[in-house]
Amino acid sequence: MFDKKTIRDIDLQGKRVLVRVDFNVPIKNGLVGDDTRIRAALPTLEYLIGHQAILILCSHLGRPDGSPDVKYSLKPVAEHLSQLLSKPVGFADDCIGAITTSKVAALKPGDILVLENTRFHAGETKNDADMARQLAALADIFVNDAFGSAHRAHASTEGVAHFLPAVAGFLMEKEIQYLGDVISAPEKPFVAILGGAKVSDKIGVIRNLSAKADVILIGGGMANTFFKAEGYPVGESLVEDEALDQAREFLKIGKTQIRLPVDVKIADKFAEDAAWKLMPTGPIPNGWMILDIGPETVIAYAKVIKKAKTVIWNGPMGVFEFPEFAKGTFGVAQAIANSQATSIIGGGDSVAAIQQSGLAGKISHISTGGGASLEMLEGLSLPGVTILLDK
Ligand code: AMP
Repeated sequence: MFDKKTIRDIDLQGKRVLVRVDFNVPIKNGLVGDDTRIRAALPTLEYLIGHQAILILCSHLGRPDGSPDVKYSLKPVAEHLSQLLSKPVGFADDCIGAITTSKVAALKPGDILVLENTRFHAGETKNDADMARQLAALADIFVNDAFGSAHRAHASTEGVAHFLPAVAGFLMEKEIQYLGDVISAPEKPFVAILGGAKVSDKIGVIRNLSAKADVILIGGGMANTFFKAEGYPVGESLVEDEALDQAREFLKIGKTQIRLPVDVKIADKFAEDAAWKLMPTGPIPNGWMILDIGPETVIAYAKVIKKAKTVIWNGPMGVFEFPEFAKGTFGVAQAIANSQATSIIGGGDSVAAIQQSGLAGKISHISTGGGASLEMLEGLSLPGVTILLDK
């Protein structure tokens, strides 16, 4: 249950509303690349405009060093947003300070002003109270719609909410509803599919989900550490020796709940044009490395997915950047798309994979937050959400 106030619960008419959005999008040659995150904020922005609020938008973009860097400017984003909304969008060269304050003062209901990258100030990532107070001084209400940044307590995500009435936007609400419901009360059978490069990034997720999921299907580079923990050589495969003990612990949970690939695609080098062959899971020959799950594994995993009522997926099954080693990832994506289950894809590379496969429309919820969705799956609460007003 999402128990925080949202923009539905607060009077917006003529109010100056500071909206923390997640406009951390790729910029190339001064133009926005994939604009999924900007589009995801539109329902909130359109609602605020419709309710005659004065919109002041802030976000970070990339990792500037706490000082201005034109490479990370949000100006192209403001221009892109203006096209998406078909209306003028103003831009302030700083997110705080005198010029910004005077630009805000000139705004009328329905107007939109995008503020420059919050990370151009070192106070942002330090959650500096003075910076938070200056941001808060621009507005009457704070709306957090930046799910992708909600796991970080920064000045514009958490700090500012100490100084203003703070509520959630629609994207935040939707993300927490989906990911939160899965964590608290998944419809069963509940199947989690976990892949990606490393086990160490996902130990908390496996631990938390092993208490909730009926089956956890493992793939990607992280499977290699499990294979090694089972005692056989993995050749040149990516492996994390420091996570072997943890993998052994997880293996004790048992194979009915934690499943490993039954076959793998191995390659003679880490390259798109590598020579490859399929083999059943077992000792990997010297000089070879596992770069994908095999077709038998895709079939076995698809059978499990077919029976599920809830599916959550995080992390590719192989090196999907190389077409020959993307087959396992796309096979699993297809199985999720075919299933009747409530399906959730949590952030990062699995989102890229589902978009590349053209199956995104068949997924119940595609999260906009990588790190934030992982923290939800770990069962943690997000500081940018905790601080919002309770219903
Ligand atoms: P993550 O950010 O942890 O979700 O990891 C995603 C990355 O894992 C992708 O860039 C994949 O190329 C990589 N990956 C998946 N499977 C393997 C594998 N078997 N060996 C090496 N890297 C892999």
